[in-house]
This record gives sequence, structure tokens and C-alpha cells, in this order.
Amino acid sequence: MRKRSNLLRMLHALNDRMILTNRLRWRLGHFEMGYQYECWADEQFAHGNWFVINSLSLSNEGEFVVQMDLLVLTGDKILLYELKAYSQPINDCRDGTIQYEENGEKYPHPINQLENAHRRLQNLIDALGVDLEIESYVMLTHPESYIMNLPSWTKNLLIQSQISGHILEQMRNAKPVTAQTKHYYALLKAQDHDTSEYNSMIPEYSYDQLRKVVKCPQCFGVIWEIPKFKKYLMCPCCGENVAVRDIARLAMEDYLILFKEKPTMHKLHEWCGGKFSKHRLYQMLS
Ligand SMILES: [Zn+2]
Repeated sequence: MRKRSNLLRMLHALNDRMILTNRLRWRLGHFEMGYQYECWADEQFAHGNWFVINSLSLSNEGEFVVQMDLLVLTGDKILLYELKAYSQPINDCRDGTIQYEENGEKYPHPINQLENAHRRLQNLIDALGVDLEIESYVMLTHPESYIMNLPSWTKNLLIQSQISGHILEQMRNAKPVTAQTKHYYALLKAQDHDTSEYNSMIPEYSYDQLRKVVKCPQCFGVIWEIPKFKKYLMCPCCGENVAVRDIARLAMEDYLILFKEKPTMHKLHEWCGGKFSKHRLYQMLS
């Protein structure tokens, strides 16, 4: 099961507990959508006879190096995917960047990002003694997404309608996995260190300054009323039926990721805006 990156989790934890700039809120929405489409891509790969690593982040002495969205290990290959969920047409500026039509913002070209990730992965597997050949692709996972002005020689970029055909073809040609592949899989998994939260886009915050609220574990909307004796409630934001215990659990996880320490019951009670008694928190979380 794919997990949200630490950066995304922190942005969710801060949103509605402090005022985020419009730009940061837009990014939060964009990252969350990216995450949802990454989960979609994971499902597409779920039925092959291969090992899937959903997200591999490499760091060097705590410094972020590169994050790879999806790796698929077969008997003789590593398929490396850079997943992009652009929700609108993108223009290839032919200078190593792409540009959004809507707001004109420029971003690194996904093919360049892919080449960088490919190079880093090659160095890594050489160092680990993983004897597999890397094949890499950019996947545009959003149905509306395509890149205009893309050079005709760009072969390793797939739009959403090509993805299922691509996977079927890979399944047909994949060499069966062996105990050796499993060993490679474990070696690579052990390299995963998510340091995305050290990204400079996280604003400064302090415990005192943050609003003490609880949120829906499905949509991250603020929940103002918690019934005293019920185990489930309907989220007023998304309409999902959510377990009260999961609301408390999310509040604790938010605290953990923001302050890097486990809250005491007293602190957690306060952090939840007094929505749960300490006794109830203790029962739900122990
Ligand atoms: Zn909700």
C-alpha cells in the first residue's frame, strides 16, 4: 500500500490548523491529486508476476537525492516510472522545462527528471550489485493530460490511454521472478528514506500558533462535532462514514509528523481541541 509522502502529510496536517498561502494550498491539492493517481497506477500493476516498489526515495546523509514514483522488478528488468498527474495540457518549452497553459508556471521537464532518476538508479544498482537492466518511462496518469510540442523522438512517454496496453505488453514479455529478484527487491526497499518533509516549502509553525482541531481521515476536512458515544460518524465534508477512532488516530499522526514526538494523553487531549475525553483517547488509541 502506497503511503503519502511526509511532505504531503505535513501539508495536510498544517492545512486548516494555520493559514496556508494560496500557492501552498494549490500545491497541496496538486500533490494530493498526484497521490490519488499514483494509487491508481499501483492498481494497474497489481496483477503481474513481478515485485512492485511504490516510491523509492534516496537520500545521502539525510539530504534528499531523488524520489522515484514506481519501480517494477521482473526476472531481467527494472521498469522505472515517473508518474505525472497534470490536470491540463502542458507545453514542452524545448529548454528542459514544461509550462502550464493556465497559469504559465514553468516546471522541470518530466523526461529530464526521468533521465536523472534513471542515472541515479543505475548508480545505485551498480553499487548494490543488482544485475538488472533498467527501462524507464514517464506516465501521464491524468486522463486530461498530454504534452504539446513534444519532440517526435520521445518514445518513453505514455499518456493515460496507452498505460493498460503497455502493462499487458510488459506482462507478456516479463521474465519470471526468482529468489534472486526477491533479494534485489529487498536490497532496493532498504534504501528507501523519505526526507521530503525537509523541503523548504513547509512554512514555519509552532504548537501554540496552530488551531486545535480534528480532521476526517478520508478527506482531511475539519470535523467540529464528535458524538459522545458513537463509534462512527458521517463526515460533514465528504459524506463518508468514518470511525471515530480513526479521527483520533489521524490527530495523533499529525502531531507526530509535525513535532517528531509522541504526544502525552494530556497534550493529545488539548491538540484535539478537547473533542475527546482523555479516557476515551486512551481507550481508542491503546
Ligand atoms: Zn471527510
